[in-house]
Amino acid sequence: MDEIQSRFVSLLQPKGIVLSERQLEQFELYYNILTDWNERMNLTGITEREQVYVKHFYDSLSVSFFVAMDKVERLADIGSGAGFPGIPLKIVFPYLQLTIVDSLNKRIQFLKHLCDALELTNVRCIHGRAEEIARQEEHRDRYSLVTARAVARLAVLNELCLPFAAPGGTFAAMKGSEVQEELAEAGYSLKELKGEWMDTHRFQLPLEDSLRHMVLIRKTAPTPGKYPRKPGMLLKSPLVKSSL
Ligand code: SAM
Repeated sequence: MDEIQSRFVSLLQPKGIVLSERQLEQFELYYNILTDWNERMNLTGITEREQVYVKHFYDSLSVSFFVAMDKVERLADIGSGAGFPGIPLKIVFPYLQLTIVDSLNKRIQFLKHLCDALELTNVRCIHGRAEEIARQEEHRDRYSLVTARAVARLAVLNELCLPFAAPGGTFAAMKGSEVQEELAEAGYSLKELKGEWMDTHRFQLPLEDSLRHMVLIRKTAPTPGKYPRKPGMLLKSPLVKSSL
């Protein structure tokens, strides 16, 4: 184990995460494949090794600091891009049944290759728009946890993500330093999509100490039939009171 890995291990230990040698190997392989493919396609702007470990891997795992992962069986990661937060969570909690949805096929091809190389089982990487995939019975109202990082503002994200969550399940929206304004405008979309705001956790990302927010929303009932609306509608006419 080198210095960067050893710092990663010590950052996770107080959070109750103890990594095996195999898991450390998987993270290192992830880093190598990510930076290799990144030379041919746009996956991430962050390529320096320790930055990837902290800003991508640790940040992804922060979901587990606030959500009881032992209660989660089915996880849907919406707009996963290069696999964040879904893949780091799957490495650390290998029993998860993970579904990844992304509208960019190149990224889905990358993720399929990555899952093979890391020997991850029970992962489905689906190419498609979340608002269309959520119309399929096998995905609608079916997941105990839904995650999204850096995909859209909360009022739009609620319509993209909450339809995947089972009643009683959780949607964890990973946000940066500013969240108050988004939360304030998200009330109407929450009501329409059967979401109940539970908590907003504020925390610092180690090393550079940048601020993050984890917004936790509980799904209270099945998704109403009219949602999600057709692609295009969500962005053109987000579910905020002033746009109605
Ligand atoms: N979650 C990753 C992360 O934090 O690094 C990727 C963030 S990237 C800025 C946003 C991703 O969301 C892109 O890969 C994009 O293709 C995907 N995306 C945007 N709108 C989507 C939609 N309606 N359905 C599925 N994927 C979508």
